[in-house]
Amino acid sequence: MSAGLSRCAVPTSIHCDHLIQAVDGASSDLQRSIVSNKEVFDFLESAARKYGIEFWKPGSGIIHQIVLENYAAPGMLMYLPFLTAFARTKYSHTPNAGGLGLLAIGVGGADAVDAMTGTPWELKAPHVVGIHLTGQLSGWATPKDLILHLAGKLTVRGGTGRILEYFGPGVTAQSCTGLATVANMGAEVGATTSTFPYTKNMCAYLHATGRGAVARAADAAAEKGLLSADEGAEYDEVIEINLSDLEPMINGPFTPDLATPLSKFGALVQESGWKDELSASLIGSCTNSSYEDLTRVAEIAKQAQSAGLATKVPFLCTPGSEQIRATMERDGITSTLQDVGVVVLANACGPCIGQWKREDSKGEENGTYYSNNKINFKSRNDGNRYTMNFLASPTIVTAMAFSGKLTFNPMTDTISLPNGQLFKFTPPSGQDLPTKGFAMGNTDYYPSPVPEPQPGTQPFWTPESKGTRTSTLKVLMRVRGKCTTDHISAAGPWLKYKGHLTNISENLLMTAINDEGGDMNVAFDHDHDSSQSRSDTIPNVAKRLKARNQPWALIVDENYGEGSAREHAALQPRFYGCAVIVARSFARIHEANLKKQGILPLWFIDKADYSRIGSGDVVETFGLGDLVNGNGEEVVKLRVTNSRGEFFEILTRHTMSSDQVKWLKAGSALNFIRSQIA
Ligand code: SF4
Repeated sequence: MSAGLSRCAVPTSIHCDHLIQAVDGASSDLQRSIVSNKEVFDFLESAARKYGIEFWKPGSGIIHQIVLENYAAPGMLMYLPFLTAFARTKYSHTPNAGGLGLLAIGVGGADAVDAMTGTPWELKAPHVVGIHLTGQLSGWATPKDLILHLAGKLTVRGGTGRILEYFGPGVTAQSCTGLATVANMGAEVGATTSTFPYTKNMCAYLHATGRGAVARAADAAAEKGLLSADEGAEYDEVIEINLSDLEPMINGPFTPDLATPLSKFGALVQESGWKDELSASLIGSCTNSSYEDLTRVAEIAKQAQSAGLATKVPFLCTPGSEQIRATMERDGITSTLQDVGVVVLANACGPCIGQWKREDSKGEENGTYYSNNKINFKSRNDGNRYTMNFLASPTIVTAMAFSGKLTFNPMTDTISLPNGQLFKFTPPSGQDLPTKGFAMGNTDYYPSPVPEPQPGTQPFWTPESKGTRTSTLKVLMRVRGKCTTDHISAAGPWLKYKGHLTNISENLLMTAINDEGGDMNVAFDHDHDSSQSRSDTIPNVAKRLKARNQPWALIVDENYGEGSAREHAALQPRFYGCAVIVARSFARIHEANLKKQGILPLWFIDKADYSRIGSGDVVETFGLGDLVNGNGEEVVKLRVTNSRGEFFEILTRHTMSSDQVKWLKAGSALNFIRSQIA
């Protein structure tokens, strides 16, 4: 709409997976969410109709699962399909589609707009890391444990600017959906994407999901030596992993790269003084709701049930799509899970995006839960920053639910039964693909492919605000440490305001730590008048600056904006008047989002300068005029004047390409696109 186009430049789809709150089960949760988010869903549906976009309505499933089942195809690196993939998979866990042997790169919503408007999209050529897999997974170890292990090795920054290309004999034995899980969580190590050579299991998955023609085309390409790395391919680095050595992993709390092998986890719980109590188990999501995952989980549930056990804690399952939901229901998986106390939620993100109405975890008396999701930042899932959240495979998460203990190790430990006997699980095997094929379920959920635009449709929309820009800025605050997009724009109950920038901006940086004082959601207004206090919440101080028409800057730490590719994390600061963010380093997608929204990201050349700038300081930029006029240097000098009138200069560097500079000049990428059309 903002670009003034009459239809999207490439086939595009919209997915409504974030706004369904988990309360008491699929049917009532879905109905309640449709009512409470009616305005947002109506807007999306009407916009889809007007512009010829496929609309996957609420309840149809999670975007990444739907993409794997319907859109992804091996070898999608050709120019047009590549862009098509971008438009369709606007999210940082887009690499999930890599399970089918393609390059699927996660981007933010603003980048997806490039594809939707036919604008060239660019990415600095990443390095390529080869992950050489040998050996075989066995026992309780699953593909999820491979990526949890790798996250521990690489850390959340280790994949930044790199593609992870898996190769070796250990790849071919994995199911397509197992590889998708590995690719999905490559985002947790910051990787640009993850990919695999085309395998027989990918071919089988394509047939099982009704895409025989794609499978045949892929087979033909593979016969010509395509769809795999070149003979003798060289990598920037090679990491060796012997799958036979892997055991189940538990990662967390609060970060996905804190990896502990299951056999050592009990000792860690004791050393750390954590309460040995589990408070909930969560399975499913876009990461782990494959047929293979669910059959393995059902096998554990059956073993427990025949021993007379039921789950000891609330246990929630979010199917990734209507296809998966219908198939698990037809094949008795749902009833098996429900018999042991599992609540099956709507086909949506649910607790993974903070949409979890959790009543049993409030205040510091926290709960500890296991989840097979992949994002475990503080407050992410239940909104309680004291809750400890650990990531594990769905099988481990399920076995834990029957013991109720944080330290339970199903490989070695037993559970006492009421009759005095001891029960021990045997490792589940699961089934890759359903013998009877996948069930479609409710066909109302499937949009017609590439619908024709209906230009007469009138979508709901609100006029954009127009910001002003100057090169003299006030520093709002210096953010300490980890600041993910969840810290910048919290999810959970806030998601219902996604269509209301004014309302959702009330959560700006509300869980960020102010480095001056160490408090959460506290900022200082150095120009406050006598009717106002000096300290206030971060959004309130940002609003005060906006009311004074005072553009501001933010000083941030390492890997600013990691986590979900949430464009609101760039939109909201822009809405309140943020013009520049100076970081020790940025997460790739968020940095791109900032550029798209007309905020200038700058990198400290000397990272120690981070500590020299504080709230209320005045920052002037030198060289910005040259930059926007297209003849600037990479280095941008900042002159900082503190409250005592002392000033000093520091050096930063920008990463703006000549095209991105045009967005900055126009105020945002969309402003620029619109100016070209006009
Ligand atoms: Fe997947 Fe969770 Fe993101 Fe939903 S919120 S797409 S389940 S990672």
